[in-house]
Amino acid sequence: MKMSQTLPATLRDAPAEAVIASHRLMLRAGLLRKLGNGLFAYLPLGLRAYRKVETIIREEMDAIGALEIKPTVLVPGELWRESGRWDTMGAGMLRVTNRVGQELVVSPTAEEAATALVRDELASYKQLPLTVYQLNTKYRDEIRPRYGVMRGREFTMMDAYSYHADEASLGETYERFAAAYRRLFARCGLSVLTVRADSGQIGGSDSEEFMVESAVGDDTLILCPKCGYAANDEKAACADDAPEGAATALSIEEIDTPSVRTIAELAAFLHIAPRSFIKTLIYRAENCALDLSAAPGGAGLKREPNGGVYPEAFFAVCMRGDLDVNEAKLAALLKAGGVSLACDADVERITGAPVGFAGPAGLDSVPVVADKTALALHDAATGALKKDRHYIHVEPGRDFTPFLMGDVRTAKAGDRCPACGSAFYAKKGNELGHIFKLGSLYTTALRVTYLDANGERRTPIMGTYGIGVDRTLASVIEEHHDEAGIVWPLSVAPYQVVIVPVKYEGEMKAAADRLYGELRRRRVEALLDDRNERPGVKFTDSDLIGIPLRVVAGKSLPKVEIRLRGTGETELADIDAAPARIAGIIADALAALRVRQ
Ligand code: ATP
Ligand code: MG
Repeated sequence: MKMSQTLPATLRDAPAEAVIASHRLMLRAGLLRKLGNGLFAYLPLGLRAYRKVETIIREEMDAIGALEIKPTVLVPGELWRESGRWDTMGAGMLRVTNRVGQELVVSPTAEEAATALVRDELASYKQLPLTVYQLNTKYRDEIRPRYGVMRGREFTMMDAYSYHADEASLGETYERFAAAYRRLFARCGLSVLTVRADSGQIGGSDSEEFMVESAVGDDTLILCPKCGYAANDEKAACADDAPEGAATALSIEEIDTPSVRTIAELAAFLHIAPRSFIKTLIYRAENCALDLSAAPGGAGLKREPNGGVYPEAFFAVCMRGDLDVNEAKLAALLKAGGVSLACDADVERITGAPVGFAGPAGLDSVPVVADKTALALHDAATGALKKDRHYIHVEPGRDFTPFLMGDVRTAKAGDRCPACGSAFYAKKGNELGHIFKLGSLYTTALRVTYLDANGERRTPIMGTYGIGVDRTLASVIEEHHDEAGIVWPLSVAPYQVVIVPVKYEGEMKAAADRLYGELRRRRVEALLDDRNERPGVKFTDSDLIGIPLRVVAGKSLPKVEIRLRGTGETELADIDAAPARIAGIIADALAALRVRQ
């Protein structure tokens, strides 16, 4: 490609809204332009890099035997009603109605579409295991799209769905995906961490996320320096803290605590540490699948027919005063679609007191859910369900009994690893890919069956896998850039070589044209800077765009200068020998990326 013919010019500055390096550089180097909030267009250079990521993903998916399909992006709403997600996906899922009133979903993910396809094709156990994938457009009405294509509204996902007769087969495919992900991210030049994950709205059991470290990451990763335990903080467990103190013989006592509401104020007032308090938060859970018929306040709750979910249920969640509730863990414990803090009016209705005086002792309007840390306390303080009153000398078990207990605390740096007891450290990260074992949730809901070897009808189990293509591309730039611009790994670079004649005329033009022709003949992806610009401008642009190799035809002809963008190393090569030398450097670099795993 000749630079004079490609779109568009590079930019000296990026718009102020581009706050992270990859977003700024994608705009400045002319890879990307914004169309609307969370909506982008790749320009020719950006599209080439994007296609390379897609190709690497496709090659690795094909290599593990996944079969590429391409369903439409619009999927009939009735499939989402069958799975039950029409009601649970919320406003993040875009729905449209066509001229005959048919409801359609703009795919945010495609478990339903893939499973409906497989339902029609699957007849016998001999077809299993079966894995399909697509590289296709997704739409999610993200509340706050940001960081360019890192979190857009429309983006491309590689999403794969596997179907199995048994757990062993699902486990094998799951491991194959994990290995393929490691290979493909390594080929893109990315250093990824694998962490245990919450399986979120989708349900399911085993699940891992592939993360890149990022100062602006949306996720917090909890890592053990010793045994390698690694988990998203939505999932991270921690070892139980050593027991502290002893049970008190003193009876629970109600005391006056005028104008004291927060844990900090109460700690100062009573001269004790926040960790001696049982803080109690009132949570609202949506679509809770627990059986609450025997729970406090449960009898009167509205429930879907036939033992179905409770659309809305409230809980009092007890936690040691110095710790935070983890809403993802809480939602999982409550088997709920989602949880959120109750509004002030609900807190007042439930506790009979203003916000700030909730406590588990004597609370009978809602079930009490206790984190393990709250139950491990002795001689604790809590709210007394009355304005300006607290209890002291509270003994869990004696003064209150929870309906449910579990681990719902947010693990953080310094907490101890459940596997080996070492102190955790934490990092911010961004999720590039995800693998889940799903079980039979969707195959049951969509009534997928096959005949086993004995001619019996069975339901397959399922795995689901996803990678954000655009986010992967942006992450490559996050990991590979410097002050001057992008430093593409050869595997993802839009072009492998840029040829820069100091002046595009005379002997230099002839040399540049000759190199360009010879490199293309060798199938090296070459860009020729044939613009009538000053050499400084061309060098600045080639650094900004980040093409891995630069060949300069200038004063030293018939020798040309080969420069590596990554290290700045240069060498002179005779113009006749340069194409072979360049092809060799490229082959070596690509081979190195393939083995880096
Ligand atoms: P996140 O927690 O970042 O919102 P997610 O858990 O919703 O992601 P999945 O449903 O697991 O994401 O989707 C698979 C992959 O799709 C993610 O790992 C990510 O790479 C990509 N992805 C998800 N949402 C977006 C988005 N808004 N923009 C770009 N890529 C996205
Ligand atoms: Mg995810």
